[in-house]
Amino acid sequence: MIKLENLHKSYGVGKQKLHVLKGLDITIDEGEFVSIMGSSGSGKSTLLNILGILDKYDEGNYFLADTLMKNLSEKKGAYYRNKFLGFVFQSFNLLSFKNAMENVALPLYYQKVSRKKRNKIAMEYLEMVGLKDWATHMPSELSGGQKQRVAIARALISDPKVILADEPTGALDTTTSYEVMEIFKRVNDSGKTLIIVTHEHDIAEMTNRVIHLKDGLIVDAEEDIAATVN
Ligand code: ADP
Ligand code: MG
Repeated sequence: MIKLENLHKSYGVGKQKLHVLKGLDITIDEGEFVSIMGSSGSGKSTLLNILGILDKYDEGNYFLADTLMKNLSEKKGAYYRNKFLGFVFQSFNLLSFKNAMENVALPLYYQKVSRKKRNKIAMEYLEMVGLKDWATHMPSELSGGQKQRVAIARALISDPKVILADEPTGALDTTTSYEVMEIFKRVNDSGKTLIIVTHEHDIAEMTNRVIHLKDGLIVDAEEDIAATVN
């Protein structure tokens, strides 16, 4: 589903240049549940933004569903993003002036689905994440865990192949984090590919494969643990 070959990314130019990703080779198959672990500043968000076609890379190749994602026009980028990808963020990114159902329905609004139809579908997704009774509540009336469940329902409503989540439990307490991970597990069981960025070991351990990122490179787990201990 996803294949990276010798992927490089730097920010800035000249003396200010910061080489963040230094040649990554990663393959993620359809239906996998993967976490990307690494300390703060290790390039996790940079990598996820490239996977999400939200940012460009400098060198190497990124294949999404066997298509090379390189030098895409804005329009082509948006096409692949909408067709293949759903996003979940640490800060939920809900619209504060829309209720839970309207937030979930938003992607369908952009696809010009009628209000009646998109709200009906949104209710099904809210039910899936256990929030049917909260449909008319505004984000300010929801707990952090509930907000993230709304965000997950919103990511799922356009039926993407891959869900990309950047520190989705970063703003949640442990119990709520595990509840959110349970939902991700169910989403994965339904056949979706899930890629979760985290710096928390217990969260990473709930996925089926951990990719360790350190100093811009993939390292094996032992090296990563050794680095944490030292
Ligand atoms: P992580 O998500 O693992 O904490 P990031 O991918 O956000 O790491 O950042 C990796 C490095 O790149 C950091 O040193 C960060 O300061 C730098 N960085 C991230 N985004 C930018 C940007 N837009 N411009 C310049 N430097 C950036
Ligand atoms: Mg980050």
